[in-house]
Amino acid sequence: MTIEQFQQTIDETYGERDAQRGLERTFMWLVEEVGELARALRTESHERKVEEFSDVLAWLTTTASLAGVEMSEAAARFAEGCPKCGETPCECGRRR
Ligand SMILES: [Zn+2]
Repeated sequence: MTIEQFQQTIDETYGERDAQRGLERTFMWLVEEVGELARALRTESHERKVEEFSDVLAWLTTTASLAGVEMSEAAARFAEGCPKCGETPCECGRRR
């Protein structure tokens, strides 16, 4: 599944409901899911971590859709390495 396909699937599954909720309230759900991920990282099983990463990815993606942002365009910033220094691995902070 590509990033484009994932965003399309999330749009088809949740887009109408999330549009009714609106960008600001959907973003608040994303923030809440990030909090749940923080807890899962500290204390929970691999399966729970996968679930929470999945939820954050889905909420991030639907928030992007509501904001008119293609996640593939966002991901493309990193296609040629670090967007700031252009290096892979990143050299930011290593140079003197
Ligand atoms: Zn860098």
